[in-house]
Amino acid sequence: MAVRDVYVVGSINVDLVVTARSLPRPGETVAGGSFQRHGGGKSANQAVAAARLGASVRMIAAVGDDDLGEEAVALLRDEGIDVSRVMTLARTPTGVALIVVDASGENQIAVASGANAELDPTAVQHALRGARPPAVVLLGLEVPDAPVLVAAHAAREAGLALLLNPAPARELPPELLDLSPLLTPNSVEAATLSGEEEPEAAAATLSARTGAPVVVTLGAAGALVADGGEISRLPAPAVEAIDTTGAGDAFNGALAAELAGGAALLAAVHRAVAVAAESTRSSGARAGIPRRPPG
Ligand code: ADP
Repeated sequence: MAVRDVYVVGSINVDLVVTARSLPRPGETVAGGSFQRHGGGKSANQAVAAARLGASVRMIAAVGDDDLGEEAVALLRDEGIDVSRVMTLARTPTGVALIVVDASGENQIAVASGANAELDPTAVQHALRGARPPAVVLLGLEVPDAPVLVAAHAAREAGLALLLNPAPARELPPELLDLSPLLTPNSVEAATLSGEEEPEAAAATLSARTGAPVVVTLGAAGALVADGGEISRLPAPAVEAIDTTGAGDAFNGALAAELAGGAALLAAVHRAVAVAAESTRSSGARAGIPRRPPG
């Protein structure tokens, strides 16, 4: 079987989740909740998805020198992900998301990006040395522009496929768009980035700007692809969705794994839509991501 090399550059968090009767109002304490902690961070979740689909995944990221960092990295190692390029930063906390979920599933989230905000561009560049085609580089925006830009340049110089999941959406540096990343926004992010409300128009506008295909995910409606002026729609299979948290991460990891395995874009998106739909059938960002034996 061909090796599917995926380099994921971005965030690692630990999610600290309290499930409570109701969400606290300012100044209020809501007692009687239950607590769980999970590995999180969009990029780390995407790395897990790619690894479960049989890709050989290298994570390039930063954690703090604390117990949460050790835990987050151990969870990735347990998925078979190469964590040798994950940097442990002294006197810096690991990225944390503090989440409160109420009985109806409504949530409140505060994020402290910690070490993610300190991801060092020079270290990222070093970590990508040795990457060769047909490897895929998958970037996210829970880290600053500088490491994202360095990774994008390194990917282009090495002739690697370059995917950018623009989440959470923010204005992208023109220099980054000029490197023609394949963008994978959800419909809200696509509207933010393009100024176009309709996903088709947003995808077409973004694709004209980057000169590369754009894949917009549409929740239960699947995804659409704008490529060279053509728009294709790929519907999602109907599933009983229990928890759509992390569906976009499952999508991005699966897409990267498929492209690294040599799949054509539409075939890869078709597969990623199916994997992401499957991931919504159980609760938790990582729990529902299916495993596929290599081969
Ligand atoms: P995000 O999680 O980033 O907001 P989307 O909501 O667009 O992204 O979901 C990403 C992908 O997850 C979709 O393209 C689809 O494949 C799958 N998905 C999400 N919600 C559902 C759902 N209710 N039913 C089936 N598939 C879903």
